[in-house]
Amino acid sequence: MKDYLLPSGSRMPVLGQGTWNMGEDPSARAAEVAALRLGMDLGVSLIDSAEMYGEGGAEEVVGEAIAGRRDEVFLVSKVYPQNADRRGVQAACERSLRRMKVERIDLYLLHWRGNVPLAETLEAFVRLREQGKIGDFGVSNFDLDDMLEAGALPGGELVATDQVLYNLAQRGIEWDLLPWCRERRIPVMAYSPLESDPASQAGLLGNPQLGAVARRHGVAPARVALAWLLRQDGVVVIPKAVRQQHVRENRAALELAPALTAEDLAQLDAGFPAPRRRRPLAMR
Ligand code: NAP
Repeated sequence: MKDYLLPSGSRMPVLGQGTWNMGEDPSARAAEVAALRLGMDLGVSLIDSAEMYGEGGAEEVVGEAIAGRRDEVFLVSKVYPQNADRRGVQAACERSLRRMKVERIDLYLLHWRGNVPLAETLEAFVRLREQGKIGDFGVSNFDLDDMLEAGALPGGELVATDQVLYNLAQRGIEWDLLPWCRERRIPVMAYSPLESDPASQAGLLGNPQLGAVARRHGVAPARVALAWLLRQDGVVVIPKAVRQQHVRENRAALELAPALTAEDLAQLDAGFPAPRRRRPLAMR
């Protein structure tokens, strides 16, 4: 699978599995574990989690799914902004490590910006990296001004990614954030690539132009929506799926990505116009 080089020298795969909403309902746990394992079986080795998801529950699901398979996965987790001070980061990371039953998180992110000075969070991330508890670190929900601020601080040169909302229906980052990251070879992680909430997802997947492209390739619209992201340089995509059919569909987007034609791309641009002006960063 294609991947991107991070500051530590490790490589982040271009397709992963999200875990938001996992670990909340004990009756769903077996299916969640099975979905993550199926993804791994299919070669989708990145798993994205956060201490926030199910208040630790999602990380426990991840721990169960990867038991005995640590070497196969690239693990991402995130610290709450309210835990992002010097001592809080250290303690939160250690809790996440315990829940996932691992010695190291490959990529550790600040979930969004809060009130703790960024310099303090970066310093704590650098310390975790030196301790070997994390491989790389990065941020999430940072707009360009936040990235510029982070980049100017000690440790800022090591920021490995910005995880942001990005999909066909939410293309705002193409105006400035995405080109800026690309220029610096900082891969962007596209979250909610299928628009998680049902109404927005119906709007995205029900778009007639997307439907026409999907019909031309004989696949579901979701596969095209993911392939459109995957074909772009510097974009990592992390759909979340519990249904096994969805896991397979999402994995198959990797093969579709290089098969999208100029006609497909033009039709998708017509259905989902690129931004014509700067907009504040969209978030979920
Ligand atoms: P998403 O992955 O865009 O959408 C998830 C929803 O789409 C689920 O209901 C899932 O159903 C369904 N789905 C998955 N594959 C499908 C397919 N092939 N066809 C039709 N429906 C499909 O949304 P998300 O969970 O918001 O985002 C993905 C991940 O990004 C999260 O899980 C999380 O790890 C991360 N995230 C990060 C932030 C942040 O602030 N950093 C914010 C949001 C999300 P089933 O589960 O029933 O299969």
